[in-house]
Amino acid sequence: MTRLVVLAGPTAVGKGTLVRALRERNPDIWLSVSATTRSPRPGEVEGEHYHFVSEAEFSRMIEHGELLEWATVHGRHRYGTPRAAVEEHLAAGDPSLLEIDLQGARQVRATMPEALYVFIEPPSVEELVRRLVGRGTEDDLERERRLRTAEVEMAASKEFDVIIINDDLDTAVQQLEKLVLDPGSVRGASRRHVP
Ligand code: 5GP
Repeated sequence: MTRLVVLAGPTAVGKGTLVRALRERNPDIWLSVSATTRSPRPGEVEGEHYHFVSEAEFSRMIEHGELLEWATVHGRHRYGTPRAAVEEHLAAGDPSLLEIDLQGARQVRATMPEALYVFIEPPSVEELVRRLVGRGTEDDLERERRLRTAEVEMAASKEFDVIIINDDLDTAVQQLEKLVLDPGSVRGASRRHVP
């Protein structure tokens, strides 16, 4: 049985915080490290947060079939999931997590429909905007671009197997942990909010 959970959700919904908290609570859960053409933010570490690669290297990875999926996110930089690491961890039976954008999740679904697809929602759109502005790491233009992506992404929640509302962090982490450790528990169930 595939122990793969694919996590998506609008920008600034708190996916990063959620995944970090999950891995602190349970270091046995493997998180795929994506390749990206964007530059590191302060504090981001090569190989830990991302593999930061050049445009040429990213194109080479695509040509050699090294990416399970890839997408241009927020109309700017390219992000992709290295295929080999995912295959290794799944073969080893590790509970595994991909945190990717909606376009990427759709691509993975086309080749791995047996994985569990989880969508993270904000408590409200107002709260999402508050989080987006509050983060303060992007300029106005970038924020606007991300908000547009977020609106499109919110409309896609119905494509996912499970929706987690990221209101209280501890609750959301516990819900996600349960799904990652035992994705079979909801397989075959119709779309639903957790709990
Ligand atoms: P950030 O630049 O804030 O780290 O990430 C921007 C967006 O890129 C996030 O919504 C994240 O889900 C998405 N992303 C990160 N890694 C990947 C990946 O490997 N593939 C795809 N398709 N999206 C990714």
